Amino acid sequence: MSVPLVITAAITGSVTAAQDTPHLPISWDAIVEEAVTSWRAGAAIIHLHARDEDGVPTQDPQIYQQLVERIRKRECDAILNLSTGSAGGRAELDERTECLELEPELATLDCGSMNFGDQRVFNNPFDFLRRSAAKMSAHGVLPEIEVFDAGMIANGRRLIDEGLIKGPGVWQLCLGVKGGAPADLETFAHLVGRLPEGAFWSALGVGRHQLEVNLLTLAASGHVRTGLEDNIYYRRGELATSNAQLVQRIVRLAEELGRPVASPADARSLLALGPEQDP
Ligand code: ZN
Repeated sequence: MSVPLVITAAITGSVTAAQDTPHLPISWDAIVEEAVTSWRAGAAIIHLHARDEDGVPTQDPQIYQQLVERIRKRECDAILNLSTGSAGGRAELDERTECLELEPELATLDCGSMNFGDQRVFNNPFDFLRRSAAKMSAHGVLPEIEVFDAGMIANGRRLIDEGLIKGPGVWQLCLGVKGGAPADLETFAHLVGRLPEGAFWSALGVGRHQLEVNLLTLAASGHVRTGLEDNIYYRRGELATSNAQLVQRIVRLAEELGRPVASPADARSLLALGPEQDP
């Protein structure tokens, strides 16, 4: 019996902008709606970023709280994975982790620094990783260790060795960002091979690499992340019309492979989380 496939929908992100696609959820209502429809389509995990009233990415914990409450009011029991990223370079290091005080079940931990595109440096010094991991542990938040390059796996393993993260850990391999690991088969295989034995892992590809990485991940029995945060096209030249459309494609591929799709309850048991807790 194959392990149920946990699908993460990354519905808005902090890099894509309203002018890139009319289908990106920007307003709070739209973000909530896309979270709910992605969950209904088969996503067990919703990866959330906050945006302010003008649609500008922010790490304001009060906005995260609003979004979480509104999603829960819709009876959506998906695992909510809050970003501790930099809101596109707008948030300072420790501001980024204020949302952990809401005690989400899952939150990202970007496990190293890198160039991010042509202009930005994604700054994640090791001391900040230690502080963030300790804060997650204090608030009962499971870290999703985001990896953009092989050195970040070493950093994540070091946090496990230091006892700051429980091993073997929950990992997200992020491929194809300019400045990070390329989205090709050799790199993918190398990164998967460097993960701790028994780790829970998922992968994503950005832009035109999204579907390719989805397929590699399905072939390697990993878990899948999709969504408009990572890619706004359904196929070349054709915008995706919703996050749910991208999730539905993964569900169809899983069906073809005979792999069951994980419910949020299945995902909680795979991640060793308790029963649903409201942040
Ligand atoms: Zn994100």
